Amino acid sequence: MSDHTKLSAALFDRASAVTPGGVNSPVRAFRAVGGVPRFMASGDGCHITDVDGNTYVDLVCSWGPMLLGHAHPEVTAAVQAAVGRGTSYGTPTQPEVELGEEIVARTPVDKVRLVSSGTEATMSALRLARGATGRAKIVKFAGCYHGHVDALLAQAGSGVITLGIPGTPGVTEATTADTIVLPYNDQAAVTQAFAQYGDQIAAVITEASPGNMGVVPPVGHFNDFLARTCKDNGALFISDEVMTGFRITRSGFWGLGSDTVAPDLMTFGKVMGGGFPAAAFGGRADLMAQLAPEGSVYQAGTLSGNPVATTAGLTTLRLATDEVYAQLDRTAETIRRIVGMALSRAGVPYRTQNAGNLFSFFFVESSDEVTRRITDFAGAGAQVLPRYAAFFHAMLDNGVYLPPSAFEAWFVSAAVDDDALATIEKAASVAARAAAAV
Ligand code: PMP
Repeated sequence: MSDHTKLSAALFDRASAVTPGGVNSPVRAFRAVGGVPRFMASGDGCHITDVDGNTYVDLVCSWGPMLLGHAHPEVTAAVQAAVGRGTSYGTPTQPEVELGEEIVARTPVDKVRLVSSGTEATMSALRLARGATGRAKIVKFAGCYHGHVDALLAQAGSGVITLGIPGTPGVTEATTADTIVLPYNDQAAVTQAFAQYGDQIAAVITEASPGNMGVVPPVGHFNDFLARTCKDNGALFISDEVMTGFRITRSGFWGLGSDTVAPDLMTFGKVMGGGFPAAAFGGRADLMAQLAPEGSVYQAGTLSGNPVATTAGLTTLRLATDEVYAQLDRTAETIRRIVGMALSRAGVPYRTQNAGNLFSFFFVESSDEVTRRITDFAGAGAQVLPRYAAFFHAMLDNGVYLPPSAFEAWFVSAAVDDDALATIEKAASVAARAAAAV
């Protein structure tokens, strides 16, 4: 056992004795890249430090939430003050109203309901769509991940691809019988599905710009196409901005302005919780009015709108100004450029794709593929995975924490500074050579 991972390894052993696979969310286990998962002990700005005392520039940012970096002083102070006032009452509170107002002001939704995870948000949005339309079927896209909702765990992205799980045991055929899975960005497949099942489809759900099979943005105004197709057929369009919301722009992917038709329903999470469990779904007022207690579609949560979580989210969003987003864009561009240059110098064929500051690298098989846009799950899957594993470990050994899977987006924080960029540049040149050697 290597000395610099001794304490992480010991904790992993203890964790494995009491928790399946030693982790509370699968991708954390490093199954796709091998090696000892690092147990983090603290974070400060753009850095995280593990229990063995190794410090890394963090390009995972808790899988999105830590937009401002770790332990941001203003967020920490607001959270500490909130904790001092009591942590949960099971009653309405002011911070949840203010977070709701902030979300409504930033996005095209009229009303929101707060929940505690992205999974709950998409699950509840589906229930509302089915309740509102009186229809059962839903359309989702291969490679999109919407949390571990039973009906949406069909050809899902994120950890489901990383672990190569085809269909998840425990999700019954009956639960997915009403789920239609189509290739992403394939308008003809959508048209065909509506021709066949149009009057039975309650909703189409998609990531606003998929980031769970690597970053695979919509092409040919796919979201507008979906929104219009839904409208023409009496179905609802659900845009999942759990990953992209409040990260790519003040609102999310929507804020880039490439989509023009507002979704009927949207889901949010990650950044809006500022590192605490908070998520939301929202949409048109007439649809949201169908939720209990105003309407009859039931949805609830003991800790929904929790005052500490909503304070963290609200403080984060208030600090996330246009200047912050401009800086995130510049940082992401710089990282893509320096990593790309290192890979090119080492002769590693790659493709990088982005939606605003959300990006990823695909370790494609040959230089012919470098210019070929990856538009769906099949394209994203054609990668040399051992090359990513070698790259990942060399980055880790040189102080940069990347997602431990080739099928995830890289996340930047506003705390990334010139020193961190220099660390990334140095690590990338070693890591690119390690990838080239595979
Ligand atoms: N939707 C998307 C687009 C996501 O990326 C995720 C999580 N990565 C979820 C939903 C589920 O969110 P959570 O993990 O908070 O349940």
